[in-house]
Amino acid sequence: MIVLVVNAGSSSLKYQLFDTEKNYEMLAKGLCDCIGLKEGGRIKHEAGQTKYETEVFIPDHAFAVELVVKALTDPAHGVIKDMSEIDAVGHRIVQGGPYFSDSVLVTDAVMEDLSKCVPFAPLHTNAHIQGIKGITAVLKNVPQVLVIDTGFHCSMPEVAKTYALPRKVAKTLAVRRYGAHGTSHRYVSGEMCRILGRVEGTKIVTCHLGNGSSISAVKDGKCFDTSMGLTPLAGIIMGSRTGDMDPAIVPFIIQNYEKIPYEDRPEKFKTLSVDNVNDFMNKACGLLGVSGVSSDMRAVIAEIETNAHGCADDAKLAYDILVYGIKKYIGAYAAAMNGCDAIVFTAGIGENNAAIRRDVCRDMDYLGVKLDEKVNATARGKVTKLSAPDSKVEVYLIPTNEELMIAKDTEEIVRKPGA
Ligand code: ADP
Repeated sequence: MIVLVVNAGSSSLKYQLFDTEKNYEMLAKGLCDCIGLKEGGRIKHEAGQTKYETEVFIPDHAFAVELVVKALTDPAHGVIKDMSEIDAVGHRIVQGGPYFSDSVLVTDAVMEDLSKCVPFAPLHTNAHIQGIKGITAVLKNVPQVLVIDTGFHCSMPEVAKTYALPRKVAKTLAVRRYGAHGTSHRYVSGEMCRILGRVEGTKIVTCHLGNGSSISAVKDGKCFDTSMGLTPLAGIIMGSRTGDMDPAIVPFIIQNYEKIPYEDRPEKFKTLSVDNVNDFMNKACGLLGVSGVSSDMRAVIAEIETNAHGCADDAKLAYDILVYGIKKYIGAYAAAMNGCDAIVFTAGIGENNAAIRRDVCRDMDYLGVKLDEKVNATARGKVTKLSAPDSKVEVYLIPTNEELMIAKDTEEIVRKPGA
């Protein structure tokens, strides 16, 4: 089966094409960027040795899908002859709200439920809807499947998903912990279970450390708790998101913002009100806010090393807050699960940065964590056991592969009788 995996964002559309019969070989991948913007529109496409980038104005997601199909079927360097070869399309859906707990075939009723998810993640959900409509316009009756990022977290017990709000307030507004990155946590915890040789009885902490970061406790193969909340703002410090903080800080900052000298207020946030405070906490804080340099971990580390912007101390503080936050979550989840068999590092930072993995695992003898520092120092981008042979906890680097999970779910659902 040829499956197209689509990840539609507000101004971008990423794609990968898989052949499920050839051990899920990835035939091509690419990105349509700056959709709907007057400048910067382009498609980047990659298939085997072929790589190209073309600048083109992309007015909407439907046009982006046309570009993708053209790239995939191009007579010179396409990977399929005709778009009729695409058997199914799987979409990454960031937030399923209270409506979806599992991957599901697209129907009119499903689309109606998806539109109800808009208030929970407006930018993402509207982009997903545009992406699905774009596919329908171009590929007509090809079956489409939604793979829901929050789905994996639906197995959390009530005690982990419930906020201490009045019950009727929480229920009416469906305010609870939904989490995020579920497809990634599901993939890497599944791989970890495979390595451990069992699912039942396993207690795994998965650390997805990217631009957005989240940590999950996975017990018996199911999500037991996760660090993100109603939205991806909660948990550990992220590129430009605050992570956990005292909720009273929000009204406090709004009420006292005028006291901050104008020039000290972040660009784009010269005034702060209830209308833009969510944006402020998502875009101006985190590593960027603390370091004063960048939301990109590589730039934060470069600043610690070079002090090029005179912000080395703050950059080091941002680094330390991240390491400390990860350690705290691992400890909390080990306590919640009454133990921990394995810790998994994944995503941009987790897969590429040995120092952070080393610093997180330092002084964790209470859990029995012992890193093989030599192996860790050079491990990058591929499945690697990082723990020493006498470590009580397995520590692994497992590169995430959300697209593969989406392709697998899509194939499974489309192959079900009656689909
Ligand atoms: P996203 O959440 O956008 O999918 P990624 O998983 O690609 O992000 O992770 C991006 C983050 O990974 C960035 O902060 C980037 O600086 C960081 N990163 C990538 N390589 C390294 C590295 N070698 N050292 C430290 N951080 C890295």
